[in-house]
Amino acid sequence: MKLETLAIHAGRRPDPSTGAVREPIHLSTTFERGPDGAYPQGFFYGRSGNPNRASLEQAVAALEGGAEAVAYGSGAAATLAVFSLAAAGGRIVCSADCYHGTARQLREILPGWGTSVAFVDTTDLAAVERALEPGAALLWVETPSNPLLRVSDLAALAVLARARGALLGCDNTFASPVLQQPLALGADVVMHSTTKFLGGHSDVLGGIVVARETGPVLARLRQFQGVGGGVPSPFDCWLLLRSLATLPLRVRAQSAGALAVARFLATHPRVERVHYPGLASHPGHGLASRQMQDGFGAVVSVQVPGGAAEALAVAARVQLFTRATSLGGVESLIEHRASMEGPLTQTPPNLLRLAVGLEHPDDLVADLDRALGG
Ligand SMILES: *Cc1c(COP(=O)(O)O)cnc(C)c1O
Repeated sequence: MKLETLAIHAGRRPDPSTGAVREPIHLSTTFERGPDGAYPQGFFYGRSGNPNRASLEQAVAALEGGAEAVAYGSGAAATLAVFSLAAAGGRIVCSADCYHGTARQLREILPGWGTSVAFVDTTDLAAVERALEPGAALLWVETPSNPLLRVSDLAALAVLARARGALLGCDNTFASPVLQQPLALGADVVMHSTTKFLGGHSDVLGGIVVARETGPVLARLRQFQGVGGGVPSPFDCWLLLRSLATLPLRVRAQSAGALAVARFLATHPRVERVHYPGLASHPGHGLASRQMQDGFGAVVSVQVPGGAAEALAVAARVQLFTRATSLGGVESLIEHRASMEGPLTQTPPNLLRLAVGLEHPDDLVADLDRALGG
């Protein structure tokens, strides 16, 4: 089945007890045993499993083409679940240009679990090969990356990881399964902050990991979910499943809007540099054109002349963009990224990250033109 059809039908069926076309929200935390002591529907306690969560997991597994998905209460919890696969005594190799919260887990939590960490430019395959040398357990890659939109070659990284016996995990939050299918390119697990495009409306926090196959990796992810306990609420799962129905439409329209915004910015005299893989001038454009489909994502980063002060001044002048962190929602956001990431940030101080929503691109362009002083 095609993605648009899966987005509407995977994980969904009318409620057998009422005929309700949309699944009810199952708030019950506990489920009745049969007279024989068994659990006839397979559910017994809300931390271990819930019908709304099961429906969401089925849908996302179908969209990513994996065996099963495992949902958590946030993207950060989902990332940590994958990192737990490398503990203890393992080694994780991670994209240097990664989500700052991911880097914090690797710096602040994983060393205490006996896991060593190396940050590497995953667009440089020779550097990845060197970093994988001594017994790496996991290669973690974000592509396009945050916030510089660097593009890493997932198929090539999968070959390198497999040759070293390491798992390849991909944070697919920026692309969504609409634009990029890491499991088909050889990744073992793919993760989303469902807070972003999968939720799409800036009103639910969540995370999910999809495993390519059943087996020990999936079993560990399930254990981290049910025994670790960082699970999403039934309502959050219900909201996410509802949002998935429009995911292909939203992501394609937002990507088209982002391309229009990036092209406008690339020609603007008060712009120093635009980072967007959909621009032919971007170093990852060729690879992104092969590895992604139907668009290059809805995040555009832009550097303005005049340093942090001018970047903040531009952000202060927008009227339609909202000054806020996050991405993937229907409303466009603008963010001075370095001040969000804190003192260890590698992000250029004059960089603004734009998360393009579903407004008409002409209106977004007009807002930016005004804010840049064009
Ligand atoms: C937001 C984000 C995360 C963290 O997800 P939360 O839902 O905020 O915990 C991880 N990776 C990327 C790329 C993100 O954008």
